[in-house]
Amino acid sequence: MSKNTNTSLSFSASVNLMADRAFLAMDMDPSIAAVIKACNSIIEVNFPVNIKGKVEVFTGWRAVHSNHRLPAKGGIRFATIVDQDEVEALASLMTYKCAIVDVPFGGSKGGLLIDPSKYDRDEMELITRRFARELIRKGFLSPAENVPAPDMGTGQREMAWIADTYKLLHPEDINHNGCVTGKPVAHGGIRGRTEATGRGVVYAIREFFRHPEDIKAAGLVGGLGGKKIIVQGLGNVGYYAAKLLEEEDEAKIIAIIERDGALINDDGLPVEEVRQHINEHKTIKGFKNATFTDNGLKALELSCDILIPAALEAQITVENAARIQAKFIVEAANGPVTYEADEILRERGVSILPDAYVNAGGVTVSYFEWIRNLSHIRFGRMERRFDEMRGQHLISAMESLTNETVPEWMRDEIVRGADELDLVRSGLDDTMRNAYRELSETLHANEKVKDFRTAAYVVAIDKISRTYFDIGVY
Ligand code: GLU
Repeated sequence: MSKNTNTSLSFSASVNLMADRAFLAMDMDPSIAAVIKACNSIIEVNFPVNIKGKVEVFTGWRAVHSNHRLPAKGGIRFATIVDQDEVEALASLMTYKCAIVDVPFGGSKGGLLIDPSKYDRDEMELITRRFARELIRKGFLSPAENVPAPDMGTGQREMAWIADTYKLLHPEDINHNGCVTGKPVAHGGIRGRTEATGRGVVYAIREFFRHPEDIKAAGLVGGLGGKKIIVQGLGNVGYYAAKLLEEEDEAKIIAIIERDGALINDDGLPVEEVRQHINEHKTIKGFKNATFTDNGLKALELSCDILIPAALEAQITVENAARIQAKFIVEAANGPVTYEADEILRERGVSILPDAYVNAGGVTVSYFEWIRNLSHIRFGRMERRFDEMRGQHLISAMESLTNETVPEWMRDEIVRGADELDLVRSGLDDTMRNAYRELSETLHANEKVKDFRTAAYVVAIDKISRTYFDIGVY
């Protein structure tokens, strides 16, 4: 996969045009629309790092799209496709995303122009720490104002270096751990953050399948079990989404698209085995029991029930939109469908669950992590044993009243107190379900809203504009 250039619009123009549909449906004052769409601030940094005795200059950006709520939140991407426009577009998506799932943050995003595969671990540490120092010194990274997280090309490792760099510069800040999310659990991270975006995608799809009128509108029948699914990208998001859909929902992953091609098997692919193969061989080529094609993009056009683009932006464009056969597209990546392609797919009646809702599970669990960092205590630590004791008392009462013994499996279920992972998953599921209901209600209640994406923007803009009206624009 690579960045698709089959679009005349920049990424940020595409996002703004999608938002415009919502402003129109809401009859929003154009000046308020302009305030909401504008990216508040953006910084570009160029900094030198000594790599194997030679000085290299790196370029990075951090955009703050909105700070009607603080801190501003959003990942940091390390990739060769990063540029200022991309960072601004992704920051604006963060604003809408946080509003849709009621996470009280503004929207931000960062990017560093780098190919991480060209540097070893120690070099990556030097580069990451130096980038973090630049952002901290310029007011673009702190627990109160701007909190990064993982994104493409970054993970727990980079977040731990960023957190440590902040702590070294601000040891007096008692909340230093809250300066970044997605950290390793041993360094103030939260259980369930790594899988959160992929799991959120699955919770979104499950909620869709609880709404018969939406299933019908998409031209689908029945439940999620047995549905044929194509996943583009087996990175962190695509991997967890595909794995859970296969293992827990008994859906069939009939194609997996990666940067070097696609694996196809109409009877379903074993996701975990494909991932192990990629880890071992650094390619999907050579995987047994599947047909391989080196034209990955073409595999997006195969017949299926659900298409999950979980890789890069601009994968479905004017060039291929008319040939997409999926009835239902679930945008796990940010911006995989361009504005022009979206228009074509809307015309064709394809249902699309939009990125700003679908992949919001990451920032939702980041919110839980940030709260954990500010409260300096693991979720469930105070109440777990108390809940267990309550369960025991309940069982004793039931047994003495009925003179029957409660079966073992029931006892275990009733007695078990929730740990941090249980609570994170419960909070994530609840968030994705509530947000879906708001989207679906908006779609069915407002006749000017014809699709989930516009519904999502209407929901977000309604909440954001209310904060502007309440506090005024200064
Ligand atoms: N990078 C993720 C996103 O695009 C996570 C952001 C966060 O957790 O702040 O939503």
